[in-house]
Amino acid sequence: MSINGHIAKLMELAGEKAATADPSVIAPHLTEWRDKFQGNAALMLMPESAERAQALIRYCSEHGIKIKTQGGNTGLVGGSTPGLEGRNEVLMSTRRMNSFCEVDAGDFSITADAGCTVAELQAKAAEHDLLFPLSLASEGSCTVGGVVSTNAGGIHVLRYGTTRALTLGVQAVLPNGDIVDELTALRKNNTGYNLSQLLVGAEGTLGLITRATFKLYPREAQKHTCLLAVETPSDALKLLASARKASGDRVSAFELMPRFGLDLVLKHIPGVTDPLGGTYPWYVLTDIATSRTDAALEADVASWLEGELESGTIVDGALASSFAQAENFWRLRESMSEAQKHEGGSIKHDIAVPVSKVPAFLERASMAVLEICPGSRLVAFGHLGDGNIHFNLMQPLGADKKDFLAHWEEVSTLVHDIVMEFDGSISAEHGIGTLKREELSRLKASASLTAMRAIKAALDPKNIMNPGVLFPEA
Ligand SMILES: Cc1cc2nc3c(=O)[nH]c(=O)nc-3n(C[C@H](O)[C@H](O)[C@H](O)COP(=O)(O)OP(=O)(O)OC[C@H]3O[C@@H](n4cnc5c(N)ncnc54)[C@H](O)[C@@H]3O)c2cc1C
Repeated sequence: MSINGHIAKLMELAGEKAATADPSVIAPHLTEWRDKFQGNAALMLMPESAERAQALIRYCSEHGIKIKTQGGNTGLVGGSTPGLEGRNEVLMSTRRMNSFCEVDAGDFSITADAGCTVAELQAKAAEHDLLFPLSLASEGSCTVGGVVSTNAGGIHVLRYGTTRALTLGVQAVLPNGDIVDELTALRKNNTGYNLSQLLVGAEGTLGLITRATFKLYPREAQKHTCLLAVETPSDALKLLASARKASGDRVSAFELMPRFGLDLVLKHIPGVTDPLGGTYPWYVLTDIATSRTDAALEADVASWLEGELESGTIVDGALASSFAQAENFWRLRESMSEAQKHEGGSIKHDIAVPVSKVPAFLERASMAVLEICPGSRLVAFGHLGDGNIHFNLMQPLGADKKDFLAHWEEVSTLVHDIVMEFDGSISAEHGIGTLKREELSRLKASASLTAMRAIKAALDPKNIMNPGVLFPEA
């Protein structure tokens, strides 16, 4: 269905501020962070409320007009780029849906509009001495609707869970224009299908999230940030287990970084320094935190570090002595994606395997990819505490970027097959989008795919919301 005959009507329904057909305004919304997708859209709608979005979606539903939803546009799998594969879609941005963000301190919850950013929720919670624990490098831009729809992970999943675990309820406009309002601070509510949880991770294929309520936690009053050098990922895992035990399970982040990744950050990101003197094959960055103010945790961390240095599991390390130093440690980790951009082409995977299998997976997958892409440079890093590794392959020195990236499908097929051998997942936290939908079709059990398609067909029989995302179009 072409939208050309409907632009004037949709602009009228949206109101003056909530619609644009100006190509220069729409242009930044047609590309994405990795520059992997280039989209196209003649019209961008920017409803400021659920009611406005409802009117627009209802109209689109009646006329079979396809919609691509976009929040902060930080997604990494081509899920929010409109007009791919020649599709004629209206772009619906939630950026203007951002006026409501309120904490209920008594219920340890926060409710916010879809277009509010994660950083805004963190700041709002902090005003009440509470913690919104979702934390990811894109938090200044990514939105409530985006993190719910992709079930975003980030660095605190180990302690607080994914967005799914944090979500108490959502309000959404369904593809037929109905508003389901499941906003709630209830921790227990066994009343049939959980529609909010169905929308979490649905990547915008089942409706437009307009608002969500999340859990909050007591704010961390002290945080001990350690950068530790280890010889192997197996040693890193040993540290994870001992840190959890020694701290009374207060490890809130546990990240793995290879030396080559660190070298890229030091080379390409201004203002960061290497806190350790020597060079080592692997590094762990961990936060151990509590809402308590006494000195007990500090003493526990100190004696844990001492013991692990003595045993040789830690070969070198630093415990941040100030907030600024901890920030510098974290910049090393958070700049790792950005640094790879400056080094050339990179074939990326966002995979998960059971935590205990990470070392064996890394060994097996590294050998396999180097066989088919000799000379390429591995940057396998990420959330070791969750078994989630960003298994990236950088182009060999001096190689042609385009030639190297032409191997993407071949390399990913191989990596994903190995992931399946290790009982893992081909998408730990970024989602499927358009990037991995063929791989999902290839590797997910057919009974699960049939059930997923049945849910999509029931809620969106005209396939108007995010067509081409999750499932290839027939
Ligand atoms: C530097 C960097 C670091 C990152 N680190 C992490 C990380 O650690 N963990 C992690 O999980 N992700 C990470 N990401 C990926 C990304 O930030 C997340 O996927 C995030 O959840 C996307 O939110 P967004 O608002 O930008 O959504 P968008 O990119 O705009 O959209 C993502 C998907 O959600 C859908 N969507 C957006 N809003 C809505 C809505 N209101 N209703 C229905 N569907 C909607 C879109 O259609 C699309 O399918 C990172 C990205 C970058 C650039």
